[in-house]
Amino acid sequence: MRVLRGFVAACAALLLVTGEASAGPAVRAWNPPGHLVQPLGEVWQHVESTYPDLHGFRNYGWDQIMANGGYVNYCVRWDSTAPVSAALRDRIHASLSRQFTKWMAALLDNGQGWESWPYQSVPVKAVGWAVRDRSTLQWTDNSVDVYVNDINENAPQCAADCGRFFHQDGDYSRCPGGAARHYDMSLWLTAGMGGGAGGDWGQRVGSEYFAANLDSENIHIYLHEVGHTFGLDDFYDWTPSGVCCFLMKAGSAGEITEFDKWMFRDWWRHLKPRYGL
Ligand SMILES: [Zn+2]
Repeated sequence: MRVLRGFVAACAALLLVTGEASAGPAVRAWNPPGHLVQPLGEVWQHVESTYPDLHGFRNYGWDQIMANGGYVNYCVRWDSTAPVSAALRDRIHASLSRQFTKWMAALLDNGQGWESWPYQSVPVKAVGWAVRDRSTLQWTDNSVDVYVNDINENAPQCAADCGRFFHQDGDYSRCPGGAARHYDMSLWLTAGMGGGAGGDWGQRVGSEYFAANLDSENIHIYLHEVGHTFGLDDFYDWTPSGVCCFLMKAGSAGEITEFDKWMFRDWWRHLKPRYGL
């Protein structure tokens, strides 16, 4: 369920920037369930053979969390004319945090970080909202920064000066709210959109879909797109041996499965040496 267009296509292109060939850093312990060893090996081999800049790219979700020291800030791009009350805003924030945390939980064993993962919890905070018309947002408090009619890819965005995508050197000195109000990812909610898209810039899904599933146990399209933010691939044209159904194989599962969890861990295992871990 990946839709490439506009900003998304640009980001896909960024991911495919040609870099020097790299054998990748050494990796350490690997203890997945025995029946997953082979398919996980196939997946990583596929990643290594199809991602041209696998080890040169520095803006995976992993890089964002590590740069912050263990938290994630979001901008909500409200790409809709539907009104948003303070109560709905707060429900969206809570749901966003609850869903994102499902991926973070995949890195914990009995509350401890697997394989040197340093964070027992990763707070998720929406620091800004972007909208075309201020009157769409029906709150007057200043708990989030509001950006009005800053249009990019035909959709409202939070200020580029505050965005990690635009400032991967971490310089947020021109962000009105400073580094504390910078955002790492965008939750881009588009009216009338089916499916979704995800990348280092964040995740995009339908605004009606997200709003209708705020209390769902798994907002599975969003979860799938978060997988992409952390580097996980799609499986449109092949299936690893012995596994039928998992979140990153779109349409085959509605939650993070054991296989998704171990693919996620495999990414961390392979990238953590870049952080000296
Ligand atoms: Zn996808």
